[in-house]
Amino acid sequence: MNYDYLMVHYGELSTKGANRKQFIECLTCNIRTRLKETNTKVRGERDHTYVTLNDEPYEKIVAMLQEVPGIAKISLVAKCGRDINEIEQAAIDLIKSEQGKTFKIDIKRSDKTYPLDSYGMAVKIADAILDNTSLSVDLHNHDILMKINLREDACYLSCRDFEGIGGYPLGMNGKVLMLLSGGIDSPVAAASILRRGIKIECLHFASPPYTSDRVIDKLTDLIGKLNVYQSQIKLIIVPFTRLQEKIYEVVPEPYCITIMRRMMLRIAEMVARNRKCLAIATGESVGQVASQTLESLNVINSVTNYPILRPLAVEDKVSIIETARKIGTFDISIRPYEDCCTIFKPKKPKTKPHLDECLKIEAKFDFETLVNECVENIRFA
Ligand code: ATP
Ligand code: MG
Repeated sequence: MNYDYLMVHYGELSTKGANRKQFIECLTCNIRTRLKETNTKVRGERDHTYVTLNDEPYEKIVAMLQEVPGIAKISLVAKCGRDINEIEQAAIDLIKSEQGKTFKIDIKRSDKTYPLDSYGMAVKIADAILDNTSLSVDLHNHDILMKINLREDACYLSCRDFEGIGGYPLGMNGKVLMLLSGGIDSPVAAASILRRGIKIECLHFASPPYTSDRVIDKLTDLIGKLNVYQSQIKLIIVPFTRLQEKIYEVVPEPYCITIMRRMMLRIAEMVARNRKCLAIATGESVGQVASQTLESLNVINSVTNYPILRPLAVEDKVSIIETARKIGTFDISIRPYEDCCTIFKPKKPKTKPHLDECLKIEAKFDFETLVNECVENIRFA
């Protein structure tokens, strides 16, 4: 018995009419793009999307679908004729390739004209399995659940499901500007955003010659790992050197990071508006470093009213690292490099900065001109 199809179960699909149609169209299109180099055929329907395997190994296709946002579950499905003897034989063949001692059969009969009712079908098929295998029935604690769906055109059988990542199809929820540093956290934050169906463009603050050009290679490699969710993610580089040098010239050392991050956010907001990104996202996590205490976040955040997404705000570092390993960004993130946040690291950064103090310091220099200059000179990597 061969598995012919994968049946894709939709994720957090709103039941509202128009949304549903958009969800299915968007997801079907994303699945087609993801599978375009395979022999498969994709057909989107109201309740499920079907992927015809056409002899492609299902393991490979399932692994690809497991990276597509908007998919809750994927079932491996075999198709046979509607004759009850044929269904019995298909069920026996299929269950023999499964591991386990006990089973249960679930019948869904969309064709109500079929001579047997659901119960009658289940009993007949279960009897055939009991006669031909050493398996037994257990309705509550079964090892194998065989789902049989009798439709007008054919009968579909399945006993293997794979978890998808859920969320919404990419492109349904707009676009955000992701601040990508090259550290461990921001790529993980980027992946959580993409998995919710939100597109990203990445923004990086570079301070050559203090930071090396190798950072760009690192960022390109990180983005390569995120490409499984969204192809052709844009990377925008902000030339940050002049502004950063000025900060270290005029700002008292304990406030350097706070002021620098306020400048980053001002620049990010302007770029986000220009690029039609409806929010900014960061890899910040409360308490992790001096600039991420709630007091610091508050003072830094007060330069903007723009929405800021912080998917890792309350994640602990161990689980962030675990995710980084899973999505393949960890080994890239730990490559040595100089970040503009680490090169001028103050010995005693302020953990509880005051807004009044920030405003007083910022009044001492013409930061607007330098901020505008950064925005005017952004470039695509
Ligand atoms: P990460 O591991 O993502 O670098 P972190 O824990 O090292 O985070 P910070 O260096 O304080 O923390 O940065 C916090 C967030 O600010 C980052 O997650 C990222 O979103 C943003 N950020 C920091 N430095 C840069 C940079 N040079 N370019 C773009 N964004 C940055
Ligand atoms: Mg960092």
